Amino acid sequence: MYREDFMRRAIDISREALEKPGTEPFGCVIVKDGAIVGEGLNHSLAHFDPTSHGEVEAIRDACRRLECVDLSGCELYTSCEPCAMCVATMEVAGISTLYYAASMGQAGVAFATLTRAERHPIDVEALRVAAGAPVEARAMPSQQAMDTEAVAILDSWVKARKAATAARG
Ligand SMILES: [Zn+2]
Repeated sequence: MYREDFMRRAIDISREALEKPGTEPFGCVIVKDGAIVGEGLNHSLAHFDPTSHGEVEAIRDACRRLECVDLSGCELYTSCEPCAMCVATMEVAGISTLYYAASMGQAGVAFATLTRAERHPIDVEALRVAAGAPVEARAMPSQQAMDTEAVAILDSWVKARKAATAARG
């Protein structure tokens, strides 16, 4: 269930970007059983990491703290509606519920006066379309190669995994 104190925390984290060089004003917290288990602020420029969005950072933080890769049952509070990369990360991690403050449209209005150089370098709509498209439908050129070798490793890994599971009984 939504709690204002958690959203307030996500927004407070986003506010840190006003003072911290190399960060952007996107803050996020992960909540499990009524307690914060992960926090994140966009550090893309500071960490030279284009994937360092608030949501991704908070998911990494929660998974490390909980020593798991499954955040099912967790809620995610973010200061701004997540981009497609973050939605995909949330799906991979199994996040159960999303609460967001600014919408994508509101963020677009806020960033509208920035020049191209100043602008957040993500075209969120292009990202959403590309992330949802099959490989042959994306604008990015893609080519398949050496699939036989790659698939052989997948098959070997599955065999070893099954053998290990069987050995454990
Ligand atoms: Zn994102």
